[in-house]
Amino acid sequence: MKRRTGQDRSITQNWRPATQAVRGGTARSEWGETSEAIFLTSGYAYDCAGDAAARFAGEQDGMTYSRLQNPTVQMLEERIALLEGAEACRTMATGMAAMTAVLLCQLSQGDHVVAGRAAFGSCRWLVDSLLPRFGIETTTVDARDPQQFADAVKPNTRVFFFETPANPTMDVVDLAAVCGIARERGITSVVDNAFATPALQRPLEFGADVVAYSATKMMDGQGRVLAGAVAGPRDFIEETLLSFTRNTGPTLSAFNAWVVLKGLETLDLRIRKQSENSLTVGTFLESRVPRILHPGLPSHPQHELAMRQMEASGPIFAFHVDGGRAQAHALLDALKLIDISNNIGDSRSLMTHPASTTHASVSPENRREMGIDEGMLRFNVGLEDPQDLIEDLDQALRAVGL
Ligand SMILES: *Cc1c(COP(=O)(O)O)cnc(C)c1O
Repeated sequence: MKRRTGQDRSITQNWRPATQAVRGGTARSEWGETSEAIFLTSGYAYDCAGDAAARFAGEQDGMTYSRLQNPTVQMLEERIALLEGAEACRTMATGMAAMTAVLLCQLSQGDHVVAGRAAFGSCRWLVDSLLPRFGIETTTVDARDPQQFADAVKPNTRVFFFETPANPTMDVVDLAAVCGIARERGITSVVDNAFATPALQRPLEFGADVVAYSATKMMDGQGRVLAGAVAGPRDFIEETLLSFTRNTGPTLSAFNAWVVLKGLETLDLRIRKQSENSLTVGTFLESRVPRILHPGLPSHPQHELAMRQMEASGPIFAFHVDGGRAQAHALLDALKLIDISNNIGDSRSLMTHPASTTHASVSPENRREMGIDEGMLRFNVGLEDPQDLIEDLDQALRAVGL
């Protein structure tokens, strides 16, 4: 039935990613709508009591309750699975709901996790504060060095958890090396792919077991909704993750799923253009600031690795000023076009001071270890004309004596 080709893997898996991003997962209703429908319903009605019983017994296909299934949400899950090259995907209300679920669904008291130390502030909180409260041991390592993962392994190590490029230091992790170490030892590797998205980097192709996302970032890409996703093997999603999420309830709303479906239609275009703009602006900034951390620039110590794993370097980079928090804040305050905002992946250019915002909850000692100092700024380059961004930066840099 042509209305449902978007859900037929024998057809969709042959499509190229740009086609999957527009059509993957689409299932049209009896009305044949071209754009995916928003099914704002919390429940479903049955033709007879026997049908209800059969559905609850798992003997009949169909939906029972929107904490468990929803047609709009299911379209998004199928689309993300296709883009990531994963057997299955489960979406979540936020990126952090996805990170929490992907860890807690598979870990128990007495297990051990090795995590990259450079990470999104809340991901560090999960590793440093939440997991230990439940008797789960954690070790953080410099994820740029795969050997540190191997050296940290204990008999009870169950999970490697890291992001690449990492927020906000732009550390790049060698996916093939680290996931290979996990595979050899029967450890599950979980990669936070929020910065790159599957449009630029598909960790499963490098041997990762599970990918987790904030879809709030590039996937929505226009700063509208929060969303998260976990993609991986069908048995992990359906047997390990699903019972956790169905019973704890971090479910994505159908409306937000629909917004992300619309975002995905333009993901490839946006991320390539934003990557290009980010390189243009980064090249300008490199001559004006003491230090820049941009995976797309040859000055980044892991530039070659980044370019081997990623199709483009993405919209985000970080840089340092020498004058600490005072100069960093003054630079932000002098900007006229670029917003002071801690979001990323937006089509608008946004800049933030990680030490006083996204990573304020990380202890000063851990911040130092991660390489976040008081003079660091993180920049998400949007879709504006890069020349306007350069002119705004230029006047702000002058205003603070740079
Ligand atoms: C934003 C972000 C998250 C959290 O996602 P939310 O949608 O804000 O909950 C997790 N990891 C990384 C790398 C992020 O950038």
